[in-house]
Amino acid sequence: MNSPDPDHAGTTHFGFREVPTAQKQKLVGEVFSSVAAKYDLMNDAMSLGIHRVWKRYFVATAQVRKGDRILDLAGGTGDIAALLRERVGQTGELVLGDINGEMLRVGRDRMTNRGNVRGFEYVQCNAEALPFPDASFDLVTIAFGLRNVTDKDAGLREMYRVLKVGGQARVLEFSEVKADWFKPIYDFHSFKVLPKLGKLFAGDADSYQYLAESIRQHPPQDILKSMMETAGFARCDYKNLSAGIVAIHTGYKV
Ligand code: SAM
Repeated sequence: MNSPDPDHAGTTHFGFREVPTAQKQKLVGEVFSSVAAKYDLMNDAMSLGIHRVWKRYFVATAQVRKGDRILDLAGGTGDIAALLRERVGQTGELVLGDINGEMLRVGRDRMTNRGNVRGFEYVQCNAEALPFPDASFDLVTIAFGLRNVTDKDAGLREMYRVLKVGGQARVLEFSEVKADWFKPIYDFHSFKVLPKLGKLFAGDADSYQYLAESIRQHPPQDILKSMMETAGFARCDYKNLSAGIVAIHTGYKV
């Protein structure tokens, strides 16, 4: 499990490689800078479009009221923020936070092309040290992002800190597949098919090899739940989707 100390000394994993902890952020940055332009196309190709269903469910079941102020961390190209806009209404405020300027730029352009301008803010930031005051959001979401954060405990603590009392945090992330019969098929898809799709569509096999490896290194359902409890969240729970290919974790600030 990934739990490096906060000052980023020592080593951590980058996929299956052990790297100096201080280097991981740069390596993850290179992955997303490389794939930013083709990121959306690749998501559809890799998951046969199922990521859209997971994201819709993630947003549809979120605790949202009209007019809420929401932070979508690791917001990337904006899929979650676009769905949240439908729920939060025109009076709501959506902040997309992402460490990678290129992913944010693609997200902002997509959002603007869809007419989603008012009420959106784009902030380049590291999930481990958020540039927002305490208790400033009604809901904090992170989808397919926590896996890439070097110090996940710090990321969770920051999500807790910026949440208002009564607010909800939601994590959508790849998790541990629970159906034994499906595991060999999933492994074949992850390690044999994904890098080839990455090469074909994005000209980059390595980034998609990293994706498959990083999923296997991510804390499974119960461990992530206890990490959220340690970060301060109450009433933590999770729900597996597609036999645990992904899980939605929730927690509240009380
Ligand atoms: N949430 C989007 C989605 O579901 O399509 C994008 C997910 S993408 C797989 C992961 C995103 O996490 C990338 O945009 C990457 O730049 C961002 N990211 C990685 N490490 C981060 C960090 N420490 N802080 C904030 N964002 C980070």
